Amino acid sequence: MPIRILPDELVDQIAAGEVIERPASIVKELAENALDAGATHIEIDVERGGIQLVRVRDDGGGIAAAELPMALARHATSKIAGLDDLASITTLGFRGEALPAIASVSRLRIVSRVADAAHAAEINADGGALGTVRPAAHPSGTTVEVRDLFFNVPARRKFVRSDATELTHVVRLVERLALARFDVSFRLRHGGRGLLDAPATGAAGDLARLEMVLGQEFPAAAVAVRHGAGPVMLSGWAGLPTRSRAQPDQQFWFVNGRSVRDRLLMNAVRLAYRDVLYHGRHAAYVLYLTLDPKLVDVNAHPAKLEVRFRDSRQIHEFVFRALERALAESRPNLGAVAVAGSAPTDLPALAARASRLPLEPGARDPWAIVAALKQPVEPPALPGASSSAEEQPLGTALAQLHGAYILAQNRDGLVLVDMHAAHERVLYERFKAQRESGTPASQHLLEPLVIELKAHELSALLERGEEWEQAGFELEALSSTRLAMRRVPASMRPAEASGIVTALVHDLGLEANTHHLDGAADRFLGALACRSAIHAHRRLTLPEMDSLLRQMEATERANQCNHGRPTWTRLSLQQLDQLFLRGR
Ligand code: ADP
Ligand code: MG
Repeated sequence: MPIRILPDELVDQIAAGEVIERPASIVKELAENALDAGATHIEIDVERGGIQLVRVRDDGGGIAAAELPMALARHATSKIAGLDDLASITTLGFRGEALPAIASVSRLRIVSRVADAAHAAEINADGGALGTVRPAAHPSGTTVEVRDLFFNVPARRKFVRSDATELTHVVRLVERLALARFDVSFRLRHGGRGLLDAPATGAAGDLARLEMVLGQEFPAAAVAVRHGAGPVMLSGWAGLPTRSRAQPDQQFWFVNGRSVRDRLLMNAVRLAYRDVLYHGRHAAYVLYLTLDPKLVDVNAHPAKLEVRFRDSRQIHEFVFRALERALAESRPNLGAVAVAGSAPTDLPALAARASRLPLEPGARDPWAIVAALKQPVEPPALPGASSSAEEQPLGTALAQLHGAYILAQNRDGLVLVDMHAAHERVLYERFKAQRESGTPASQHLLEPLVIELKAHELSALLERGEEWEQAGFELEALSSTRLAMRRVPASMRPAEASGIVTALVHDLGLEANTHHLDGAADRFLGALACRSAIHAHRRLTLPEMDSLLRQMEATERANQCNHGRPTWTRLSLQQLDQLFLRGR
């Protein structure tokens, strides 16, 4: 075949392939246009999963009658004019390709009216062929109707799934839009039936929208994040590790209000959770990155799902640090943090706060809610509570239950601690801190400990000799199967050292078993903490138990063990009263 220029319709259809994958893509493009036009109410109607109809109606600025044909022309946009604008995009759209692309693969109709026009106007386009502009009736704002998607492109039509599947994609998309813009109301109907109704968050700002998308329990099981550095700000909510999910289905990232699935950002989150999340589990989060538009290129991906940061290393580091900090604060002395199983006590407190959040009417800023939530919830003051009890949220140990749990009493009720899980976390955090400081606390053994190992185990051990030394061991190979230890970590009882070391060698040999922690560098310390922690059936004295409680209170991330399980829970007097149907 000779080289030739493709006809315009074909060019549009090819371009459509990049942005219009399925009905949900239509909803996305039309709703983003509405947001760019300054809409405050957006109504979306779909039929048959959106294949038969997608209609998006907004109350934004509208399109002048004379400009209607232009809106459907290729590479025609009102959002940028030149190269300089491209370097600092503040709108969701800017390429001027969505409407012509959609029009080329459907039957499209636009009705629109700008505020000061005498009446509205409409234009139709059938498979890309434009009709004439005619007067019509419409309040100020725009309605775009897209019927019979892919009617003229049978090859594409085949890739559209069932109505139900397509509808699911549409709902997810609208949920993302709702999280992106708390100040805009969204309504979605399917075949006339209401599916989603998210009024704009007004004066009595609440968490309804967050609950609508992530579930009722999410706000109480999340920490608020708000951290700014120069022109960059990270805010939102990070789910507690104890409420992790089997699927990565509740992970939302917004960069300057645009929903993205950006690898760099997702990786920074994964890294921040690596110390607190069980391998294979997924965090739930809603995070907003706001930065000077000059610092981010949103034109780096055909569907704009990925962005390119001018200084990606710095952004990665910033997000990782901010989140890691927020998560590290999940220790027992923070009243605002809910622990698995304690939701009944914490939920009402958070909900009550939420309904008092000082959101200004029409606030465009979803972060106002975050700021208000960030102040810790004060535990209700009990008359006569001593100040020392206040400093000791985990209370005083009373007994050891079945060799596994510590039963303690604080001023609010009962506290139960999983002693192995808690001790493991305490040790792990201590080991990490010591490694960072370069001075592991280690003890000299009166007699060196000699251990028999298999030759391959010993050589594997010596290969990572540095890690052992950083943790406080001093090793010497006596032969190819005999190892001597002159120093071991201070936390280790000499009598137990040999058993711990043998188990540790075994664990490290079976790397698969030590993957609780995702960061390779911390696997060693994690395995060491797990093996060194008090194991079930070891009798503890009351002072020993109290000492563990105090260490937990002073330890970052102490609310969950290295595997992401909770380390403690509580039962308030109120809950105890309820158990016994005792009114107060
Ligand atoms: P882009 O959004 O990249 O500019 P589109 O093809 O999506 O390209 O839209 C083309 C133009 O049509 C927009 O730049 C805008 O001026 C106008 N437009 C589209 N939808 C709307 C709307 N809902 N309200 C007001 N103007 C709109
Ligand atoms: Mg657009």
